[in-house]
Amino acid sequence: MNTGPTTLIRNGRVVTASDDFVADILIEGGRIQAIAKTLTAGPGMAVHEAAGLLVLPGAVDVHTHLDSATPTASTVDDFAAGTRAAAFGGTTTVVDYCTPPPGASLMAGLEDWHRRRANACVDVGAHMIVLDTGAATLAEMKTLVEREGISSFKFFMAYPGALMLEDGALFNAMRTAGALGALSCVHAENGLVIQSLVQEALAQGQTAPRFHALTRPALLEGEAAQRAIALAEQAGAPLYVVHLSTTQALQAVQLARRRGLPVFAETCPQYLLLDDSVYEAEGFEGAKYVMSPPIRPASHGAQLWQGLQAGDIQTVATDHCAFTYGESPHGMRHSKRLGLAAFNRIPNGAPGLETRLELMHDAAVLQRGLSLHRFVDMVATAPARLFGLFPRKGTVAVGSDADLVLFDPQERWTVRAADHHSLADYSLFEGRTLTGRVKKVFLRGQCIVDGSSWQGREGMGQYLPRGASGRP
Ligand SMILES: [Zn+2]
Repeated sequence: MNTGPTTLIRNGRVVTASDDFVADILIEGGRIQAIAKTLTAGPGMAVHEAAGLLVLPGAVDVHTHLDSATPTASTVDDFAAGTRAAAFGGTTTVVDYCTPPPGASLMAGLEDWHRRRANACVDVGAHMIVLDTGAATLAEMKTLVEREGISSFKFFMAYPGALMLEDGALFNAMRTAGALGALSCVHAENGLVIQSLVQEALAQGQTAPRFHALTRPALLEGEAAQRAIALAEQAGAPLYVVHLSTTQALQAVQLARRRGLPVFAETCPQYLLLDDSVYEAEGFEGAKYVMSPPIRPASHGAQLWQGLQAGDIQTVATDHCAFTYGESPHGMRHSKRLGLAAFNRIPNGAPGLETRLELMHDAAVLQRGLSLHRFVDMVATAPARLFGLFPRKGTVAVGSDADLVLFDPQERWTVRAADHHSLADYSLFEGRTLTGRVKKVFLRGQCIVDGSSWQGREGMGQYLPRGASGRP
């Protein structure tokens, strides 16, 4: 049982996906105990004045890769560093992708993940990545849903020979997940065609980072999204397209939704706010933006904004998968420089966990006129609902965990990697001036971030077993 301090947050403007009012919030035992126009501070109570600030639910990031390794590279942020960065950005719940080591069972992969997540600073859940669909694996999926609270799985349509499931296996995995009340998350890119384009480029001596983007064209994400939707429909399973980045994939999702299919989509700030001109950077700089899918031409971003506005894209996550640009001080194993000789050896991924809330407030609310409700929904409520965490997470309500963000909607500041808490040595958004800043963050009632001061501790993050996923 959590016996956190009794805390009162006074005079804040509480904004949820549906409500907007000024109130006091009383926190006891890590949960929200009361919300009312005026509450009286008792003796010994910690009081936080929030006049002029928004009080938002702690944000929920359902797409991260922390302390994640491949045979050649591993992400630089472990759970301690990554979740501390998350906290500074107002994210108090992370659902991380667990990749079982090669040849390991899903259960062994989960045990290994639990060891790695033990030093997390915010609450964490896991999605399980499925790499084969043998009988033993399908049986383990059932165990994971029923006993471990893992109600979503990820299937790759890209990276043949490493992570990819061919269509028959993908269909079987979706059918199993659907029958268990779990959500099928897919990385939608046509891996085999991309592999052929990559080989062709390398054979022609095209090794610079920009060829990463040129060998993963938008059409091949659209094709894979369409195929995933068809397979999910045939399997009778709800589907969640992760890091959707193209017009073609969005159109496929829109068509499916118009037909009433339970198809959902996530995008990321980098696909909304950057365009493929980032790959024209001098020398090896483009490697900072090597991720899959790649950053797309600007026309796609404009369509993604419309998709968000129309509600066809429900969530904004980060796909935080951080590597450093330089080799020191963390070492070559964490560095983009592993791919100096050829783009296909650049570790795929970028940091983002720390800036999602503030970027989306500035870009969605201030620049494009989306409502504060929609903003809260896309970064907190919708991901909590879709992934079986609501109403414990994702809203401000009596009985919910007291995960709260005090947010100054007017402060102007500039994104600098040098000020970040991620161990990555760069930001995709370096130098961008934003309006709106996280001031204080509470995790289950404990103030863990106070301005630039860290008040949390490693290991205080709890594991979150999740309920049924894939329901809006
Ligand atoms: Zn990812």
